[in-house]
Amino acid sequence: MDVESLYQDIILDHYKHPRGRSLIDEPSGESHQVNPTCGDEVTVQVSLDDDGRLVIGYEGQGCSISQASASVMSEMVSGAAPADADTVRQAFVELMHSKGAADPDEEVLGDGIAFVGVAKYPARIKCALLPWMALQDAEAKAGIGPDQEGTSTS
Ligand code: ZN
Repeated sequence: MDVESLYQDIILDHYKHPRGRSLIDEPSGESHQVNPTCGDEVTVQVSLDDDGRLVIGYEGQGCSISQASASVMSEMVSGAAPADADTVRQAFVELMHSKGAADPDEEVLGDGIAFVGVAKYPARIKCALLPWMALQDAEAKAGIGPDQEGTSTS
């Protein structure tokens, strides 16, 4: 199996078996994002637990890319400190702007690396970024900023 079909399988698996897909009771912030060109919709909710780690709720509908990306987003940032979640988000945004030429770091991105091929298709980049934009917006509404720990490497 080549890498490209392996990555497609990872995306399809997240689409068919979304991780942690549900809404939370009392979100501190919530964002509903729509990608009209594809018809994707995603709602992302955030709050912080007692340890200051992210609790993520989400749901959505749309293409496999957008919904799989939401699942990966949830998997990668649930339970993470906001600053760490921001590192992942920035790495994912960078990956989607790589035109498919990146060599993504699985340590940072987890299954997010599977989206490297998506970055070759400009029409699909918005699909992949949608839940991450919703995450950023929901955090902003909740007043959860990434603590500026050190300097950003991007
Ligand atoms: Zn889409």
